[in-house]
Amino acid sequence: MRISFLPALLGVFALSGAAQTSDKCPQATGAVASHSNCRCFPGDPCWPSTQKWGELNATRQILESCDPFMPVDSPCQVGAYVRYAINVTEPADIIAGIEFAKKNNVRLVIRNTGHDFLGKSSGPGSLSLWTHHLKDIEYIPEYKSEAYHGPALKVGAGVQGIEAFTAADKNGVVVVGGVCPSVGIAGGYTQGGGHSILMGKYGLGADQTLEFEVVTGEGKHVNASKTENTDLYWALSGGGGSTYGVVTSMTVKAHKDAPMAVAEYSFRTSTDDASMDKFYDALDFLHQMAPGYFDRGGYSFNIYSKGSLPLGYFFGPEWTKEDTAAFFQPWVERLESLGLQYSLNITEHPSHLAAYNSMNNPETIGASQSGGRIIPKGTILNKRAQFNQVIKNIVEDGADMLEIVAHPTLEVAGNPDNAVLPAWRDSAIFLIVAIPFNDTVEWSQMLEDQKTITKWGGLLRELAPESGAYMNEADANEPNFKREFYGKNYARLLCVKNRYDPAGIFYALTAVGSDAWTQSPDGRLCKTNP
Ligand SMILES: Cc1cc2nc3c(=O)[nH]c(=O)nc-3n(C[C@H](O)[C@H](O)[C@H](O)COP(=O)(O)OP(=O)(O)OC[C@H]3O[C@@H](n4cnc5c(N)ncnc54)[C@H](O)[C@@H]3O)c2cc1C
Repeated sequence: MRISFLPALLGVFALSGAAQTSDKCPQATGAVASHSNCRCFPGDPCWPSTQKWGELNATRQILESCDPFMPVDSPCQVGAYVRYAINVTEPADIIAGIEFAKKNNVRLVIRNTGHDFLGKSSGPGSLSLWTHHLKDIEYIPEYKSEAYHGPALKVGAGVQGIEAFTAADKNGVVVVGGVCPSVGIAGGYTQGGGHSILMGKYGLGADQTLEFEVVTGEGKHVNASKTENTDLYWALSGGGGSTYGVVTSMTVKAHKDAPMAVAEYSFRTSTDDASMDKFYDALDFLHQMAPGYFDRGGYSFNIYSKGSLPLGYFFGPEWTKEDTAAFFQPWVERLESLGLQYSLNITEHPSHLAAYNSMNNPETIGASQSGGRIIPKGTILNKRAQFNQVIKNIVEDGADMLEIVAHPTLEVAGNPDNAVLPAWRDSAIFLIVAIPFNDTVEWSQMLEDQKTITKWGGLLRELAPESGAYMNEADANEPNFKREFYGKNYARLLCVKNRYDPAGIFYALTAVGSDAWTQSPDGRLCKTNP
């Protein structure tokens, strides 16, 4: 730590004691009252001088460029990207960033991998706290607390899924992480819920948390667990990233590794009406099969659009190759009777990591606009005809579909008390609807596509109004994000937000409390009700 920031930091750097949850719900105090109603924006008279940024750079490593192909000292002027980033290597960097942002009324952003589909880890004219280099991983063979006794993994905030899986594998255990190897595990993924190929067996990512180390919005470095800062622990376990504090590390349950069966499949037809009827028939058959595997811990994802399901994967924890082949046999017979072209390849793997690595990973970053909804088990079973009709309408309208099929009930998750959106507990299919970005079309067409995503979201909402949407993979224009992303937890989460970030220094689109701010078309962030 460099000298010039020491006096300001000394008071807040030590891990503070065990503050307990108070029942009172605090009000936000509002950070900018003494400055203006907007965050300072590059070019404004209040924007920090080069000298001030230089002083910050003298104590923390800050990066000026937002373009990885430009030198780090070339200024960042690209639209929605942040203006400066602090390369976080220790909690003191975060504390210094929070202090600087508050003092200078600058918008602050927390960024890990930058995978967020809603752009929550970026922001025009902001200072970013970049956690990517917090890569420590520690295996704890016997974690002991009142709530849990067993193996655990402690990961730094910058650890990515594949790094956590690999460390777990070396110790004969598994942890819950995303399907894409580069998604961060302790950032938006777990804090926002976190679905995975193991979710039918162990629940969501947020169901695995044991404790967090966090720098709160007040610049305090604290622990949050079932015994310390319990309300913060509850909120960080499913209540959304970028809201209450900056997580620097997270400790999660690890589970004994086990063999896994994998089935990779595809089918296709031509797109005339008669062939499409057969396509929808095969899709319906696949959907109706789902409870038969997800009630036994299985998981699948399906990617499809009109006339083609080019990639589907089933993962069966502790299923054998023979079990899996027997399970898929009726579907094969159906495809053959329909005369559809198909492929099915079943393999068995000694470990979760081997099964995971066998996958031809399909996901890309920033390739499409998307939205989606959690479709409950009751909907696919009891409203089958309506469900099929809505799927058909959206597919015929040109959507790319991605389904995550699993049933992460409370029981499967070990009955945790956390802030996970309750709709997840009934989920059979988490459905993502997408339109690929097309760099050659007009901006106005992109805006039309946005409206189409929201329109499809409306059809899915009518189908399953009692359900909700997954905040990490949702429509950025979701009309009622509080209800759809947080459900009955919203009011309680807002209290936690106000308690740990009373000045409202953390903002991200659709995060809890974010409606206090509005981003104008030029990217400036201003109070909604000054
Ligand atoms: C290719 C791809 C595959 C995906 N696969 C899955 C999947 O299998 N399962 C699934 O559930 N989701 C998946 N997602 C969605 C993913 O969960 C979200 O994009 C998630 O927000 C990523 O979190 P991150 O920390 O890696 O990314 P970032 O974009 O860096 O951060 C996401 C959000 O979390 C906040 N945040 C980040 N770090 C911290 C921190 N340390 N403390 C507090 N807040 C923080 C950010 O401010 C932002 O709001 C996928 C996304 C992509 C692009």
